[in-house]
Amino acid sequence: MTDYDIVLRGGRVIDPDSGLDAVSDVAVSQGRVVAIGAMPAPARLDLDVTGHVVTAGFVDVHSHVMDIAGLRLRALDGVTSAFELEAGVTPVEPAYRQAAAEGRPINYGFAASWALARMEAVGGVTLAAGLGTFMANIATPAWQRPATPQQISQILDRLSADLAGGALGLGMLLGYAPGASPAEYLRVAELAAAAGVPTFTHARDLVEVVPTTLMDGAEEIARAAAETGAHMHYCHLNSTSLRHIDRVLDVVGRAQAAGLRVTTEAYPYGSGMTGIGAAFLAPERLPERGLTPADLTYAPTGERVGTEERLRTLRAVDPGGLVIIRHLDEDDPADRTVLLRSLVFPDAIVASDAMPLTWSGGVPDPMTWPLPGTAFTHPRTAGTFSRALRLLGSGDGPLGLTETLRRCSLLPARLLETRAPAMRRKGRLQPGSDADVVVFDPTTVSDQATYAQSTRTSAGIRHVLVNGELVVRDGAIVTAALPGQPVRAAAH
Ligand SMILES: [Zn+2]
Repeated sequence: MTDYDIVLRGGRVIDPDSGLDAVSDVAVSQGRVVAIGAMPAPARLDLDVTGHVVTAGFVDVHSHVMDIAGLRLRALDGVTSAFELEAGVTPVEPAYRQAAAEGRPINYGFAASWALARMEAVGGVTLAAGLGTFMANIATPAWQRPATPQQISQILDRLSADLAGGALGLGMLLGYAPGASPAEYLRVAELAAAAGVPTFTHARDLVEVVPTTLMDGAEEIARAAAETGAHMHYCHLNSTSLRHIDRVLDVVGRAQAAGLRVTTEAYPYGSGMTGIGAAFLAPERLPERGLTPADLTYAPTGERVGTEERLRTLRAVDPGGLVIIRHLDEDDPADRTVLLRSLVFPDAIVASDAMPLTWSGGVPDPMTWPLPGTAFTHPRTAGTFSRALRLLGSGDGPLGLTETLRRCSLLPARLLETRAPAMRRKGRLQPGSDADVVVFDPTTVSDQATYAQSTRTSAGIRHVLVNGELVVRDGAIVTAALPGQPVRAAAH
């Protein structure tokens, strides 16, 4: 008998950092990976994982679902850390406090929210929570107006306070406030550069889509990196670029070649999801993106919105109600090629944009598992990472297994590690790494969630460890396990 808590025996161990790819045992003790190699003596718990891949758990830098039920869906997709960075939360401290008080199955963390700080300063909104407050006010024109210099100072003060409270970066839902000036965006990027934190942007409209946009959304991100030196992370390239992806990738590629800190992410789905009251979903604006009301599915009822009149009604009565937006046809080979362009771009991170669960009927107790059949979300919430493995990393996939894993764990960990040194122990599988580990069957790993059955859990994910504790065992959630830890900025 050894002192090891758990030994995963005989799996194919892949570390996307060192390049290790060998059949080996992995020993875990006290929350860390402590040894990789042959371990003849039995541990307290031996798990035979012959025929499975053993690798670092997936790190999701774009997750809007932060409750226990939603994070369990994420764990069953191999995710061991999920971060709310693009929308962010403001104030950030209560979000960390609530998560710690309730417990979480996987690790978590937050950026500060420019949109919420702006809602407060420009729209007069009283901040009470995170995404809920944003969705409740998403359609209010007041917060989307140009800001006065005094209001911009107020926004920057709020964001600075959150950075002092441990926020991991600055989230910028710029595309939802088309009246915000490019100068304001630069001020926020300056703040990020001075604080040494990354920014996470939902880009402004592209000039091809909205010729009257105050600035092209892609050029604006590259310019902010050039003028301020800030690390600008360009969120979900797939959903904001659509058929203009080649032009956007050209802008990003040139910025990167010039040595600017611009990073990107994408999710492997052709449809998006957001609040139905979003500015760009106004009936008169749908044609900009080649959309009609028939491309919208309203989550609370599952109905196809269908008509402009129905869209107006839903935007008025439930502006924060979530809606699935069919941008690209995943069954159409040409559209699939467009989608893949953002995913195979060099060093593009796999990130889900996972969405909160919408419940028809009451919200159940947060510990209820399995999920009742009354939950609805975007299938990306439950399936992004196993879908990436299937589409990009399988035998004939365009990236291959190791490179796909690197984009699911190592690259997203690196994105945060300057600000949060704890991330240097994640996204890797080495002695000394945090024991955030996913064990999956490479021959069967696959997403199962669909637009009709959006909470079906992924196939082939066998075990998931978070800080050395099994959260998923033999494909099932360990319902008592809440080992997730907060990830905060250094000195917090
Ligand atoms: Zn977004």
